[in-house]
Amino acid sequence: MKEKNRYGFVIWLVVFVFLMYFLQSVRGRGTEQELPYSMFKQNLKAGNIVKVTISPEMIRGQYKKDTQVLNFKTVPLADPKLIEEMEINNVSQFSGDMDKGWLMPFLMNWGPMLLLIGFWLWMLKGMQSGGRQMMQFGKSKAKLQATKKTKTTFSDVAGCGEAKEELQEIIEFLKDPAKFQKLGGKIPKGVLLYGAPGTGKTLLAKAVAGEAGVPFFSSSGSEFVEMFVGVGASRVRDLFDQGRRSAPCLLFIDEIDAVGRHRFAGIGGGHDEREQTLNQLLVEMDGFDTKEGVILIAATNRPDVLDPALLRPGRFDRHVAVPNPDLKDREEILQVHARGIKISPAVDLMVIARRTPGFVGADLANLVNEAALLGARKSKQTVEMPEFEEAIDRVIAGPQRKSRVIADREKKIIAYHEAGHTLVARFTAGTDPVHKVSIIPRGPALGYTLQLPLEDKFLTTRQEILSRLDVLMGGRSAEEIIFNEVTTGAQNDLAKATEMAQKMVTEFGMSERIGPLSLRRPEEEVFLGRDFTREPRYSDKTSEIIDEEVKRIVEEARARATKVLREQTVKLTALADRLIEKEIIDSEEIERIINGQQEAVAVSTTPA
Ligand code: ADP
Ligand code: ZN
Repeated sequence: MKEKNRYGFVIWLVVFVFLMYFLQSVRGRGTEQELPYSMFKQNLKAGNIVKVTISPEMIRGQYKKDTQVLNFKTVPLADPKLIEEMEINNVSQFSGDMDKGWLMPFLMNWGPMLLLIGFWLWMLKGMQSGGRQMMQFGKSKAKLQATKKTKTTFSDVAGCGEAKEELQEIIEFLKDPAKFQKLGGKIPKGVLLYGAPGTGKTLLAKAVAGEAGVPFFSSSGSEFVEMFVGVGASRVRDLFDQGRRSAPCLLFIDEIDAVGRHRFAGIGGGHDEREQTLNQLLVEMDGFDTKEGVILIAATNRPDVLDPALLRPGRFDRHVAVPNPDLKDREEILQVHARGIKISPAVDLMVIARRTPGFVGADLANLVNEAALLGARKSKQTVEMPEFEEAIDRVIAGPQRKSRVIADREKKIIAYHEAGHTLVARFTAGTDPVHKVSIIPRGPALGYTLQLPLEDKFLTTRQEILSRLDVLMGGRSAEEIIFNEVTTGAQNDLAKATEMAQKMVTEFGMSERIGPLSLRRPEEEVFLGRDFTREPRYSDKTSEIIDEEVKRIVEEARARATKVLREQTVKLTALADRLIEKEIIDSEEIERIINGQQEAVAVSTTPA
């Protein structure tokens, strides 16, 4: 209590000093230069005077000096011709001093005094009520939306099927924590929602609170780190206090990466504000018991940078992906938002969904809103297709969305790239079956080919690694074959392939030329900092051979992938076409296409 008291006092002192300074500068017109009357007249004759305000005791105004405009004041002398001269010399504005009323002079003379008295009274009051008012700094900004409980429910969230399913359990728990526990259910303390910005993470969290009928407290990681040292930690504490008082309830922390970034290991340590806040968060999470009925949901678009400590069991141990919407999801999201506006029956939302690959929920909400505005501007009864068309263009051109929207040609390249991975996987022995292939961006990847192993494996053979390399190279090979050109899109594949090949040579002893040596030390304890331990212990010559071997392995994988794809160009095109149309294909459909059972798609996409 005492400490917070002092804290409030310091802030008030700062405000007070600042006010004093401000008043001082107003009174003294800080930057005003005092000119002798003769100088004033000289400047007037030279045409430098811009503006003049005359009062009985003072002439104030502005004059030009070189390129600057400066304030001046001068004591007036009896000068009956002054007005005439000002007219001749083009003073653009002159006037008598207006009566400023009593307030300004009064404030200037009495303001500091009044402030002091007010401050003193406030201190007295503060002491009487235990310094409560002074503690407000550092209070979490979490907004209590408890009184009118959030009305958002899952029906407001389109798509996100898997995420909703995973969150169902949380809802059941929040509805009746006691009952849930009696049945022996174990509930996670924290859920991490991850996905691109605007995919509806906040919306989902809110809907969980809405579905369960519990209060929703939302705050943001960036709020925790924005202010003075120590405030972040105290805000975290307050957020949790607030939560405990209103249990059962849901605490939401947006942008958790702002506080939760990986703490720097080794060298210097680093003891900054963010780290303190993060530590406080960890302490709070460990300190509360799920029995209390408080659930924490955090959101981020950078799960990869989070400190592992945050993700450990008992903290944010449940991770739920909020993916970018696919075609069907986009249509549903459009439907959700179209509920609020009058739409002409001629509008087909599916057509709009088709035209907006790469759009996330926020973009689509924005799109519907723009269309409605355009309709209103044209005084239409209902919103029609042209408005939607125009709205799409507007959203695409919108400042923050530009980078996310995928152009048609890019979509085609991504489709061939992913189809390349899929086909190579299908026609190479020893690879895991393709479960799903998609050209919907997910995280930094523009598309993905998801392979799932049939069984858990603990050992990997050389042949299996080579097959994996082939699949990795398949994406880029497809681009080369079809477009006769490569893009930057394969960077991640190449990085992975290179790393894998390197491991084959230096760790797994899978290269004939190096022999069965494992050249890399096992990771030592992080002692000096993360990357300082990987010091090689082999000669330059060996190093050269390693490079050659890695290059050879990757090149060979590429050659094999290219060979497979050249033999299967028809299927490659069929698969890519289908991907362009549907954006996501599951294993069964992949089989049908590869076996030629899929009816031909209407639009054929011969490469541009
Ligand atoms: P995030 O927290 O992931 O950045 P938000 O939850 O703030 O995204 O989403 C912003 C807005 O976009 C929401 O208020 C909502 O109007 C719209 N939106 C996003 N995803 C969906 C969705 N799946 N269904 C309906 N609306 C959505
Ligand atoms: Zn790829």
